[in-house]
Amino acid sequence: MYVELGGPKIERHFELVRVKPEKEIEDGKITLIGPDIMDMEVGSRHPIGILVEVSGPELEEDLEAVFERRVHEFCNFVNGIMHLNQRYTNWMRFSKTAVEKGFNSFQMLGTVLIRLYKAELPIIKKAQVTFYTDPDKIKEPYDFALSIYSKRDERARSINDDDVDMFYGCVLCQSFAPTHACCITPNRMSLCGSISWFDARAAARVDPKGPLFEVPMGETINKEAGEYSGINEMIKKRSLGEINRIYLYSGMEFPHTSCGCFEAIDFLIPETGAGHGIIDRSYDGVAINGLPFSAMANQTGGGKQMPGFNGISIQYIISPKFQIYDATQIGLKSGIELVVWMGKTVKDRVYEFLPEDIRDKIATEEDVADLSDLPAWLEKVGHPIVETEEYKAAVGGIEEVEEEWEEEGAMVPMGTVGMTIPGVGGAGGFKVILKNCKIHAESIIIKKIEPKRKKK
Ligand code: SF4
Ligand code: ZN
Repeated sequence: MYVELGGPKIERHFELVRVKPEKEIEDGKITLIGPDIMDMEVGSRHPIGILVEVSGPELEEDLEAVFERRVHEFCNFVNGIMHLNQRYTNWMRFSKTAVEKGFNSFQMLGTVLIRLYKAELPIIKKAQVTFYTDPDKIKEPYDFALSIYSKRDERARSINDDDVDMFYGCVLCQSFAPTHACCITPNRMSLCGSISWFDARAAARVDPKGPLFEVPMGETINKEAGEYSGINEMIKKRSLGEINRIYLYSGMEFPHTSCGCFEAIDFLIPETGAGHGIIDRSYDGVAINGLPFSAMANQTGGGKQMPGFNGISIQYIISPKFQIYDATQIGLKSGIELVVWMGKTVKDRVYEFLPEDIRDKIATEEDVADLSDLPAWLEKVGHPIVETEEYKAAVGGIEEVEEEWEEEGAMVPMGTVGMTIPGVGGAGGFKVILKNCKIHAESIIIKKIEPKRKKK
């Protein structure tokens, strides 16, 4: 790596596309505010702001988010540049090879972006790009970008799935995850968090054969789960037969696929029965299940249907349809009632939108850092999950297994709940607990066992 721009270790970074009147755009103009690549030290980290301003007679504001998403793709076209994520989580690296070969200036990246924007999206007639790398001068445009993202999100929250008769799909990420296609509905913003139903509608209207397209709902097969024949047909076709069914509002049964650019991960915490945890990209450290975002992202992404690990947008957490199917299956009234733990970074972002009667009952790492302390905390605050049969079985089940182990101290399988794989010489080894087994195991917990005997 030659330099890193943006990413989780840098406070302010963003990418934003704005549609402007023609007279405000100087076609081809590239402005840099801050040091250029060639002035940066090898191995250093810097802020990055990318502001692309475009004009064209057919352009409308609704297209901005869709254009903005293409920054990811266009930057990755450049050999030796890595670009990840979007909005204020963008993260880039320039390789030493790229810089040694002469790709050492934002002038070049700006030229690439402007030419690709105009070539790939011919409705864009003029474009100019401004890069910000100065840590002080990025503050104002960064705050402005955040205000635009909030405005877009606020608008996206103004309608519901029941208010519309068309959904949309997006296959922009198929170059990274070939079996993935996003289903974008008013209540389920794309998992990258950057394309709302309004944005997708605008994109499909101007370029119906492009990567964003209409998805007629077809027949409603299961309204509560969000299963529609039109979506099933779409995913079957777009995943080349890999995936046949999607429940839009479930993370556990026929869940939506995840590519790799989800804003957050909604994951099952089997130790709480059906409880879920949520962690977002900016969370630094390990989640309540002992895994950092990166490890869970590997499990979640790649275009697979992965019950218990669901890549989601942050807006979806506050959607009335959020995992509503999983919640009602166990007698809860809303999906947010499933959530027992959230990383503080994501909880802070959605706190004001969460129902008042539940938001303080969701633990963060500041309340509970160790999984074994979670049930007691949930019971203390009266989290609704503790009333579910699934919770009672899970919490009781673990205790039973522990008890049996301590009493017998033997390395033998323990029925259908758990089993032990002995270590060499009969000491230590691993405990394997299979939970919620129906057709397949939702989770396998492998714990190292220290030899111990119950005190007489
Ligand atoms: Fe499109 Fe989904 Fe990828 Fe976002 S995550 S760019 S909506 S495919
Ligand atoms: Zn993606």
